[in-house]
Amino acid sequence: MPAVVMGTVTGVRRTSPSFLTVTLAGCSTLETGGFDQRIKILLAQPGQDEPVLPPAEDWYGVYREMADDVRPVMRTFTIRAQRGEEIDIEFALHGDAGPAAAWALSAAPGSRLGIIGPEIGDNPKAYQYMPRRPDWQLLVGDDTAVPALASIISALPADAVARVFVQVPHAEDVREFETAAQVKVEWCVGGGLADAVRSAELPDGTPYAWVAGETSIVRDIRRHLTGTLGWDSKPHYFGGYWKAGQSEG
Ligand SMILES: Cc1cc2nc3c(=O)[nH]c(=O)nc-3n(C[C@H](O)[C@H](O)[C@H](O)COP(=O)(O)OP(=O)(O)OC[C@H]3O[C@@H](n4cnc5c(N)ncnc54)[C@H](O)[C@@H]3O)c2cc1C
Repeated sequence: MPAVVMGTVTGVRRTSPSFLTVTLAGCSTLETGGFDQRIKILLAQPGQDEPVLPPAEDWYGVYREMADDVRPVMRTFTIRAQRGEEIDIEFALHGDAGPAAAWALSAAPGSRLGIIGPEIGDNPKAYQYMPRRPDWQLLVGDDTAVPALASIISALPADAVARVFVQVPHAEDVREFETAAQVKVEWCVGGGLADAVRSAELPDGTPYAWVAGETSIVRDIRRHLTGTLGWDSKPHYFGGYWKAGQSEG
């Protein structure tokens, strides 16, 4: 059974033009597996002070049966960090077009957010990043995948070798990733992620690829790796994190 918790905002930090980190308390029954650990966030409807949460048991069945004006808006995010009962969620901002991005822009201490995630001791496979002793890793993502990439890269062991390609909207969004590993990062500011991967000279040896971001760009990169380069598609992760022109809801 997952943990369903009501998080209370304790801090909001705008770290660069396109990123904002929200810290939430009240998450003591959640336990992140690290890496690209996904969660569902539940947002209040207009007129509600806080979202109405379903119970943990059969949460999705109950959620679907809620009245349209009661059912919270649900979106998928990543636990960026956990410190005891506190978690950080890092939002890639994209104006106020989406409810999640709009909520992040207006979040302040005391704001409430529902979170559904793995319970302590539950589901050791609640993340997708699973390299199986590759010679090197290809880690690729856009702004929405930066929180997952940052967690993955910081957990790489010292003998890991990784080529990283990251797309962000602004030059000021470029950051250092903390890591003990041998990591080469290429930043694509404002676009060009798939082209950067396509034109890269990649290392020899057995690769493991983790690619996440806008769906059509992830598909392009997948086609290049498994089609043009002939990589076996099975061991790798290709995650469509969002679709241009389409809301997640
Ligand atoms: C496993 C997983 C983990 C994720 N982790 C994170 C995370 O940690 N941080 C994070 O910011 N996102 C993350 N995402 C992506 C996030 O779920 C989507 O960006 C989602 O659409 C945001 O919801 P919204 O309510 O802001 O926008 P929506 O209502 O879903 O969409 C509104 C409009 O905004 C567009 N849109 C959505 N995202 C972007 C974007 N980044 N740039 C430009 N336009 C956009 C949509 O195409 C649509 O036209 C993750 C997705 C998945 C599947």
